[in-house]
Amino acid sequence: MPDLDPAVLERLSKPMRELHVSIPVRMDGGALKVFSGYRVQYDDSRGPNKGGIRFHPQTNINEVKALAFWMTFKCATVGIPLGGGKGGVTVDPKNLSERELEQLSRGWARAMSQFIGPDKDIPAPDVYTNPKIMGWMMDEYSQAVGSYSPGVLTGKPLSVGGSQGRGSATAQGGIYVTSELMKKMKMKAPKVVIQGFGNAGSIYAHLVTELGGKVIAVSDSKGGIVNEKGLDVKAVEKHKMKTGSVVDFEGAKNVDNEKILMLACDILVPAALEGVITKTNAGRIKAKAIVELANGPTTPEADEKLAKKGIVLVPDILANAGGVTVSYFEWVQNSMQYYWSEQEVLEKLKPIMVNAFDAVWDASQKNQTDMRTGAYIVATARIAEAMKDRGRV
Ligand code: NAD
Repeated sequence: MPDLDPAVLERLSKPMRELHVSIPVRMDGGALKVFSGYRVQYDDSRGPNKGGIRFHPQTNINEVKALAFWMTFKCATVGIPLGGGKGGVTVDPKNLSERELEQLSRGWARAMSQFIGPDKDIPAPDVYTNPKIMGWMMDEYSQAVGSYSPGVLTGKPLSVGGSQGRGSATAQGGIYVTSELMKKMKMKAPKVVIQGFGNAGSIYAHLVTELGGKVIAVSDSKGGIVNEKGLDVKAVEKHKMKTGSVVDFEGAKNVDNEKILMLACDILVPAALEGVITKTNAGRIKAKAIVELANGPTTPEADEKLAKKGIVLVPDILANAGGVTVSYFEWVQNSMQYYWSEQEVLEKLKPIMVNAFDAVWDASQKNQTDMRTGAYIVATARIAEAMKDRGRV
């Protein structure tokens, strides 16, 4: 990056703080079990750290560190006044009873209570954590500090300070950037393929249809379906509710999950897993553009191949940042104790996503590079400016 102070890179090469805690839980059978919990506060130059808490058997400090780094750049890309963080517990929550899960969640919040807080570090849900867990954690933190503190966590239930619009925020943010992309690429009625039909992918499918797009294929963990003439998204959703999968939908052909990525289309939307577009399959992708609703769906080697083929890729730290932006709105509403309607939330989300898209697009054009690099240029410049203005570098 031109003119970047090496001191900024030096600071960004290590997280600001890594916390390891032991969380004792009395299991239902009577035995005491100690779980390992983590929080990494990567950089808070632009504001309090922000990022989810993951409960997963493979979660470890290195994964949490990488995810915290990512959050720092995601918040900076969309220009919200927050730094980056991430947390986790090494556990398979499917093996816990409801009571054990509550004890573990409360234990994490209690152990971290000196280090998190509305002005310090604001966690949120991530893999296998949810609004219910955020409610318990907020309660535990509030008890630990002795005052009602809804702004310590986001992604809470509405009854305890959650925000309207959080459920659809990621897809909605993705739609705002898709709309800008369509203008730049002069697409009118794009053919869209979506891998993953969960929270992000299914809502995106509905919204992209409203934008004039035609969803020709979708998939979930069991497989995919394709109909070149366009799928009836509402009917697909009903079919999935009834059968548990999109597969075998009447009026569409079944297609496997790898092949769905290779279909000829205008926009391909990975909305499921990490690392699905690789050096092995990138050469066979026929989409004109990719909108990364999932985190990390494209490997660095694939990125290079896609760029060489002239496929425009809107990177995850921009495309799925609608979620963290509405989390930021939740925190703002908690600090005011005054709450917005869903329409107000969406009205505030749109300019943030559109401005971020423009900044990233311009940076990629100016530096003759892909949009991922463009996003990192925008984010790094913003972090560097804050570091400089705080006298940190
Ligand atoms: P989800 O669990 O609701 O949905 C995931 C979907 O992916 C499901 O339909 C599942 O069947 C499908 N899937 C699983 N394995 C698959 C496979 N091998 N092939 C195809 N589909 C498969 O999760 P979500 O909240 O929609 O998140 C999806 C992605 O978006 C993740 O990468 C997540 O990190 C990212 N994301 C989500 C949010 C959010 O607010 N929900 C925010 C930022 C990023």
